[in-house]
Amino acid sequence: MTDRIDLHLHSTCSDGTSRPEAVVQKACVHGLKAISLTDHDCVDGVPAAMEIGKTLGVEVIPGTELSTTFDGKDIHILAYFIDCAHPGLLRYLQLFQDERERRAERIVNRLNQLGVGLTIEAVMARAGDGVVGRPHIADALVEEGYVFSVSEAFQKYLGYNRPAYEKKYILLPEEAVRLIHEAGGLACLAHPGIYNRDDLLPALVACGLDGIEAIHSKHTPEQIRRYEEFADLYGLLKTGGSDCHGSVRGEPTMGTVDVPYTFLEGLRGARQS
Ligand code: AMP
Ligand code: FE
Ligand code: FE
Ligand code: ZN
Repeated sequence: MTDRIDLHLHSTCSDGTSRPEAVVQKACVHGLKAISLTDHDCVDGVPAAMEIGKTLGVEVIPGTELSTTFDGKDIHILAYFIDCAHPGLLRYLQLFQDERERRAERIVNRLNQLGVGLTIEAVMARAGDGVVGRPHIADALVEEGYVFSVSEAFQKYLGYNRPAYEKKYILLPEEAVRLIHEAGGLACLAHPGIYNRDDLLPALVACGLDGIEAIHSKHTPEQIRRYEEFADLYGLLKTGGSDCHGSVRGEPTMGTVDVPYTFLEGLRGARQS
């Protein structure tokens, strides 16, 4: 069997449900040779993951998943091999995390106006040390009995165009790409298949992307083939991962995607050239 990797994983440092160390332990159990921890707008879990990776023999690539906005759509950009101590990157991440807390407060205010008596304290308790996001608000809504499930919370309140939806701080893809390059990393478009906007892809590539996530747990075999062809056509690197958020939030998808080690070799080669 060829070596497999997973370059898209979340931990409790954002909206995953396993601690960074546990993510690496699970990767080891799945027999993965290399992984990247790509928490939303956060690199706090990377040092601990790299440390335990050394002990367990799992290569851990420093990463993050930056939230950007393009043509009114939330577009996620994965960063690999970034210097997690880069001052410019850390300054931005801090700003973004502060903005996310303010956004969580705005969402709670909206919910309160809709008659849902959720408090910001309950939401922040769900986020713990992690970067707060809508999934934590969804969890709090489930816990307090306002909805039956996280997906109902998004359907009824938190999803795009739903009554408690609030935009995030706006970062353009080209700004995210610049930030990633300044921090010594490679910028790759996350899960193109979930945007339903393939028409945007050429303009996104023009923002300076290095790669595209061709393999993702939500991509069909047909989509994987199409995005691999797209990568070849545009001279982009190919990446892939499960986007696993742990075993509590949705299905645990780690180990369900077949991403070859050659993808990582491609990233490494591009980094050195
Ligand atoms: P945020 O970054 O706070 O806007 O939250 C976005 C995150 O919410 C995504 O990365 C997903 O993990 C999660 N999410 C978005 N839409 C849904 C949905 N319909 N059901 C469950 N989780 C969702
Ligand atoms: Fe997420
Ligand atoms: Fe994402
Ligand atoms: Zn993700």
